[in-house]
Amino acid sequence: MQLSEQNTYNIQGIDPHQLIEDFGSPLYVYDGSTIKRKVSELQHAFAGINMKIKYACKANTNLSILRLMREIGVELDVVSPGELEIGMLAGYAANQITFTPSGVPFEEVKTAVDAGAIVNIDSIPLLKWFGQTYGNTKPCLIRIKPNVAAGGNIKIMTAHADSKFGISVLLLDQILDVVKKYDIKIVGLHQHTGSDIKDAEPFLQVADILFEAAKHFPDLEIIDLGGGFKVSYLPGDAITDMDLLGRKITERFKKFCSEYGRELQLWFEPGKFLVSESGFLIVNATVVKEDPARNFVHVNSGLNHLIRPMMYGSYHHILNLTNPGGEPKVYNVVGYICETDTFATDRTLPEVSPGDALAFLNAGAYGLTMSSNYNARMRPAEVLIDNGAAKLIRRRETIDDLLLTQIEI
Ligand SMILES: *Cc1c(COP(=O)(O)O)cnc(C)c1O
Repeated sequence: MQLSEQNTYNIQGIDPHQLIEDFGSPLYVYDGSTIKRKVSELQHAFAGINMKIKYACKANTNLSILRLMREIGVELDVVSPGELEIGMLAGYAANQITFTPSGVPFEEVKTAVDAGAIVNIDSIPLLKWFGQTYGNTKPCLIRIKPNVAAGGNIKIMTAHADSKFGISVLLLDQILDVVKKYDIKIVGLHQHTGSDIKDAEPFLQVADILFEAAKHFPDLEIIDLGGGFKVSYLPGDAITDMDLLGRKITERFKKFCSEYGRELQLWFEPGKFLVSESGFLIVNATVVKEDPARNFVHVNSGLNHLIRPMMYGSYHHILNLTNPGGEPKVYNVVGYICETDTFATDRTLPEVSPGDALAFLNAGAYGLTMSSNYNARMRPAEVLIDNGAAKLIRRRETIDDLLLTQIEI
C-alpha cells in the first residue's frame, strides 16, 4: 500500500475505495508484487547453495496465491490432506509437496505418501508404522524437536522442550533403532522453530543441532530448517535480516556439506514471510462511540475474519484510507462480534468517521485461513492484484453457504 503525493493510498495504482465499490466490504486484498518481492529476497539471500522454498500454505491457501507461488518456482509444505488436495488442484505435482503433520492418524500419512508426497515424521510411533508399512520403499524426513526456545511468544514457539511438535533430539538413539530395524530410508532432517523469529542466532543454533544429528544418517539429501522469519508489523520494524541470515547459514551449510561428503539441499518453509505483508483486510467503520473511558471505532468485521489479535495478541497496523490527513485521535478499534474482539487498543489514527474505509496490514498470512462463520457472519471476498489488475479470487459467502452442510430433520 502506497501513499501518493495527493495523500491517497493505492495498491499498484488502484484506490482501495474502488475495490470496495467493485467487490464490497469487508475485503481481503493481496498484492502479488509483494509476494514476488519476498520470494526473490529469499532466493537472493541463499543464491550460493541449493536452496528450495516450500511455502507453508496454511498461511493462505487461496488457489490463485498457490498458482502464483508455483509459477515463480516455490514448492509447498502442507499440514493436512485438505491442503495437499488444494495444492494439487493448484497444479503442484505431489512430489513438490511435503506433508508435515502433527500427531495425525496414520491413514492421513498413507493418503499423502500414496499420492506421492514426502512426509516429515513427527513421532516414534509414526516412524515405526512408516517402517512397518513401507520398509525402505518410500523416502521420508524426520521432524526433530531441537529443544530451542525462540519466536514471538510462547503460543507460536514450536521447538522448545515442552512443545508437542517433532521427535526430541534427546531420543536420537531410539530413532536410530527404529530406522535400523525397518531399514527406513531417511532422506532428510527437519525442524521448525516457531514464528516471528527475528535473529539469525536461533536458526544457526538449530542448524547446528540438525548437522550434528545428520552424521548418523548416511542417505540424507535434505536439511529442512522450517519457517518462522519475522516480518514487519510497523513501519520501520526490525525484521529478519535475510541477507545476513543467508550469509551465515550458507557458510555453515557449505562447511557441513563438505564434512558430510555430499551437496545437500537446504529447504525453508516460510508462511508469514512470503504472504503476510502482501495482504490487507479492508473494512468500514460502522459506529464511532465516544465513551467516557475510551473512544471506540466499530468496524464491519471482527475476530471471525481476523482472529490473530485476539488469539496471539498480534499487532496489525491500521490505516485510515478515507481520511489519511485527519487529526490524530486515540481509539480502541473493535469488531461487530458478540464477544470481545478488539483489533487494537489505544491506537492513534487520523480521525475516523462512520463509513471511513480502514485497512488492517499484515493480513495476508493467517487471516482468511483462520476465519470462521461465528455469529452466522459470512466470510469476506478475496481479491488479488497482479500486474496492475484486480481480480476476484474468492467470492463473498452467502447465507446459502452457511446452511449448505446443515440437515433439517
Ligand atoms: C506454520 C508452519 C510454518 C510456517 O511458519 P511461519 O511463521 O508462517 O513462517 C513452517 N513449517 C511448519 C511445519 C509449520 O507448521
